[in-house]
Amino acid sequence: MSRRRQIYEGKAKVLFEGPEPGTLVQYFKDDATAFNNQKKGTITGKGVLNNRISEFIMLRLAEIGIPTHFVRRLNMREQLIREVEIVPVEVIIRNISAGSLAKRLGIAEGTPLPRSIVEYCYKNDELGDPLIAEEHVTAFGWATPPELDEIMSMSLRINDFLMGLFLGIGIKLVDFKLEFGRLYDDQDQVRIVLADEISPDNCRLWDVQTNEKMDKDRFRRDLGGEAEAYQEVARRLGILPESGPHDMKGPEVMQ
Ligand code: UDP
Repeated sequence: MSRRRQIYEGKAKVLFEGPEPGTLVQYFKDDATAFNNQKKGTITGKGVLNNRISEFIMLRLAEIGIPTHFVRRLNMREQLIREVEIVPVEVIIRNISAGSLAKRLGIAEGTPLPRSIVEYCYKNDELGDPLIAEEHVTAFGWATPPELDEIMSMSLRINDFLMGLFLGIGIKLVDFKLEFGRLYDDQDQVRIVLADEISPDNCRLWDVQTNEKMDKDRFRRDLGGEAEAYQEVARRLGILPESGPHDMKGPEVMQ
């Protein structure tokens, strides 16, 4: 692990001071938690895989013009990121009913939604990240109305792009969680950028043919085979070729 000064330790990642002002080093742990920290465990190799998967996705998103905090991967478990002021709102985008939506509204898991749905949760562990309305976000000043518009339109664009990316490798993007941050430039101008990570820890990914879960639900629901599932996602993305550790190539298209 980095010998730099630790800034913050979360459930799955640690943030260290970066080499230059305005940067941080994001270290990916193997620790897994669920149900607001009530269930704890480790998934061997998860940190390494999520570092690679998140790098791959952030780079693809940057290519279509989505600004992100990602700078570059440093090693197996660390990536260099820009320091941002995190907006305390978790954005959840859903395409198929699952998890808390299925429970809350009684819509059977696996039911395709009539259109993609964006939900917001207040990022607060003590309160268990409660579901909130747009009104709360702006009324309490967690984001301004223009920032929220930007967050919403970026989230839908990311969803469209990632749905296609995953479908191309035989995976349904059921739902996922995004976090955004404010990036201040030299002139103190601020813009919203995608932050955190995108990995099987915060996406639901189901195999198109078998509906097999390839994400953290394997851990949440004691299904086993978590590490293998994360590895399979990486393999299909072309990040983990059978022939050994190469650098990124394109996604492997499934028939
Ligand atoms: N999610 C997340 N962090 C959270 C809550 C949810 O990454 O604190 C992700 C989760 O992995 C899933 C999506 O957001 O892909 C929707 O989660 P849901 O609201 O169904 O909650 P859950 O059933 O996971 O409690």
